[in-house]
Amino acid sequence: MNPQQPSLLQRDSQVIWHPFTQHKTTALPLPIVRGEGVYLFDERGNRYIDAISSWWTNLHGHAHPYLARKIHEQALQLEHVLFAGCTHEPAVSLAERVLRLLPGGFSRIFYSDNGSTSVEVAVKMAIQYHRNCGRTRRNRILALTHAYHGDTFGSMSVSGRSVFTEAFRDLLFEVHFIHLPELHEPDSFRLPEIDPEEVACLVYEPLVQGAGGMRMYQPAALSRLLAFCQANGILCIADEVMTGFGRTGKIFASEHVAEQPDLICLSKGLTGGSLPLAITACHSRVFEAFLSDDLHQTFFHGHSFTANPLACAAALASLDLLEDPACGQAIAALSARHQAFVQQLENSDFPRPVSHARSLGTILAFELHSDQKEYLDKVREETMEQALDWGVLLRPLGNTLYVLPPYCITGSQLDQVYEAILRILQRP
Ligand code: PMP
Repeated sequence: MNPQQPSLLQRDSQVIWHPFTQHKTTALPLPIVRGEGVYLFDERGNRYIDAISSWWTNLHGHAHPYLARKIHEQALQLEHVLFAGCTHEPAVSLAERVLRLLPGGFSRIFYSDNGSTSVEVAVKMAIQYHRNCGRTRRNRILALTHAYHGDTFGSMSVSGRSVFTEAFRDLLFEVHFIHLPELHEPDSFRLPEIDPEEVACLVYEPLVQGAGGMRMYQPAALSRLLAFCQANGILCIADEVMTGFGRTGKIFASEHVAEQPDLICLSKGLTGGSLPLAITACHSRVFEAFLSDDLHQTFFHGHSFTANPLACAAALASLDLLEDPACGQAIAALSARHQAFVQQLENSDFPRPVSHARSLGTILAFELHSDQKEYLDKVREETMEQALDWGVLLRPLGNTLYVLPPYCITGSQLDQVYEAILRILQRP
C-alpha cells in the first residue's frame, strides 16, 4: 500500500452504499483484495475462512482456476447477446443439464439474474398460468411465516413481514401466511380461512428457511402441505435459491420430499458463486399454458442480461465440479462433521448458553442466548468481530449463528471454524 494514496476503505467510505448496512453505526467493511479456496485475504494480508460462502453462493472455493478458465474461454468467444430472438450454446447446454439434475417432471428453463428475480418470475408465471387457463379468480398466494424470498417488491410480498419489509408494508400485495408449527400437526393440512379455488400458488423454502433464521422443518410437514396444494390445483413453487446444489446433503432439498414442486427457483450456487445468474424451471403444463395465437398470453418478462453466456459457462463449470464424486464425498464429510459438532454443542455447558443446535447437510445453526432475539440484535456485530479475531468470517442472522462453508473446506479449516465458535461461547 502506498501511504500517499487514500486507502481502499477511505475511498469506499466516500462513494459506496453497502447492502443491509447502517452506515452510521456499522463497523468498516473488510477490504478484500483476493480469494483462494476457502480463504479471503484483506489489504493488510490477514486471511479469513469464508465460513458462510459469501452469502451462501460459493460452492468450490474462491478464484477457482477451473471456473476462471471456463469464464475466460467463454469471454473470448461470446460475452453477451440479448436473449429474445437469439440463443447460444452455453444457455441451451446449461438448461439441458439442469433439467437432467432436477427431480420431478421439469421441462423448461427461464433465466434471470438473481434469487429475488427467480421468485418474482415464478410468482408471475403462476398467476398468468391460471389466467391463461381462464381461471382469473385464482390470484391469491400462500407463503410461510418467517420466509425470505428476496428484496424486490414481489419477492418481499411473499416473504414473512419483518424488519426487512417494514418500510414498504403498505405497498406489499396481500399473501396468506401459513404458520410453520401448523404444518407439524399430525392431521392432514387444511386451509380454513380461504377458498383453495382462489389460490394460484404456494411459495416455500424447502426444509430450511434461510434468512428467516436458518429454521429447519420436517419433510413430512412439507409433504402434507404440498399434497394439499396438489389436490386443490395450487401450483407449488420451491425456492431453492439457498438450498440448491448440495447444501442440504442432496443436490436439491426437494429430493427429501415425496411431492415435487411445479416450479423451482435456483440461483446463488448455480454458478458456484462466481457470477450472477438465476433459473426458474417449470413443468411442461405451465409452459404450454402460454402457447397461444393470442399474443396477450405471452410471458412478458425479461432482463438485459438474461442467460448471460459468461454466467452460463460458469454454471456449467460449477456443475462439472459438483458432479465429480469427490465433491459428493466432501459434502458427506462436511455434513457428518456438522452433526458431530451439534452433539458437542448439545452436550456441553458454556458460559454463553446456546439453544436449538441443528444441522441439515452442510448447514449448521444454533441460537446464541440473547434477550433481543431479532435480526437487529447487537449480538450479531459483536459475534462477527470476535470470529474475525480468530480468522473466521461469520455473519449471524440476529442471534442465530450459522456455518455454511464452501464444500472444499478441509478438516483442519473446519476445526478452526468450530474452535472460533467455541471461543465465542467461552465469553459470557
Ligand atoms: N430466496 C432465498 C431462499 C434466499 O436465501 C435469497 C437470498 N438470501 C433470495 C431468495 C434472494 O436472492 P438474491 O439475494 O440473489 O436476490
